[in-house]
Amino acid sequence: MRTFDGHNDVLSRLHEAGAGNTSFLEGGDGHLDLPAAQAGQLAGGLFAVFPLSPFRGHDAPFEVDYDRRVGQEEAAADTLAMVRRLHDLESESDGALRIVRGSDELDACLEDGALAAVLHVEGAEAISPGLGELDELYELGLRSVGIAWSRPNAFGHGVPFSFPGSPDQGPGLTRAGHALVLECNQRGVVVDVSHLNERGFWDVARVSEAPLVASHSNAHALCASPRNLTDDQLRAVGASGGLVGINFCVAFAREDGADDPDTPLSAIAVHAAHVAEVAGVDAVALGSDFDGATMPHALSDASHLPALFEAMREIGFTEDELAGIALGNWRRVLAATWE
Ligand code: ZN
Repeated sequence: MRTFDGHNDVLSRLHEAGAGNTSFLEGGDGHLDLPAAQAGQLAGGLFAVFPLSPFRGHDAPFEVDYDRRVGQEEAAADTLAMVRRLHDLESESDGALRIVRGSDELDACLEDGALAAVLHVEGAEAISPGLGELDELYELGLRSVGIAWSRPNAFGHGVPFSFPGSPDQGPGLTRAGHALVLECNQRGVVVDVSHLNERGFWDVARVSEAPLVASHSNAHALCASPRNLTDDQLRAVGASGGLVGINFCVAFAREDGADDPDTPLSAIAVHAAHVAEVAGVDAVALGSDFDGATMPHALSDASHLPALFEAMREIGFTEDELAGIALGNWRRVLAATWE
């Protein structure tokens, strides 16, 4: 099943570890590298640039200083270093990975089997409130913007991770946040609401003309993490023609919110089923969080993606529905947004 994935953190993993690019190109010990992608029929995905992680490694990812803001200049330096890393991966991959800037380039990758990388920022801290940095980032290939990670910034407020919790924490988008959404609409850049709090979500829903995208989130009704979406939010995503990338992170899937890899793949599949029921099956897609979160043992790297589709088959998804979840729904939403 050829798959497009809405979220990976491989650029952050390589950047934070100071690792060489061969550990991606030839294979390493993370969740995502080129051989694992090819083995798992991963056709492409959003490659996140996550400016200045407040934690090193992933030992205690949920114990972050929620109020810590990151300055624009330091975030921009960090962001550009990871953007350059993606460009280096492209040029060193001998055609096996390509940065895609539009639907025609995505389709060309699907045609010839190159891994399609969509450049995404997870938290817009590198952009100042006047949006002056957007031009350069767009030129470098940026086609998706997550307004906030789980911390406040100049544009909005992300949700903290504390479990259980409501996504309705903190105020909505700032004036600069509204302007960022409109500017992304104008340029045909995806606006991603994953990590954004609920008031920010509704502001995006009101302001944005594009289909709503939650690149890596699950259903709050099944796992009461603030990172997940309420049924009202899911309905709004479905009504907009958008999608939710189902997140494989065990702490956003399990009913008890535990960060425990001893978690069956059915725990992820049921989130896909819930989103299909509430938002429609055309709103269900994938957003793994590879290299950014704790995966179930059975999904220890991207080569095991077929096992997840098997788990979704077992709870009743048809082959047509799975094709949409794997690839078709992301392709439709990206095409509609990029134009
Ligand atoms: Zn994330």
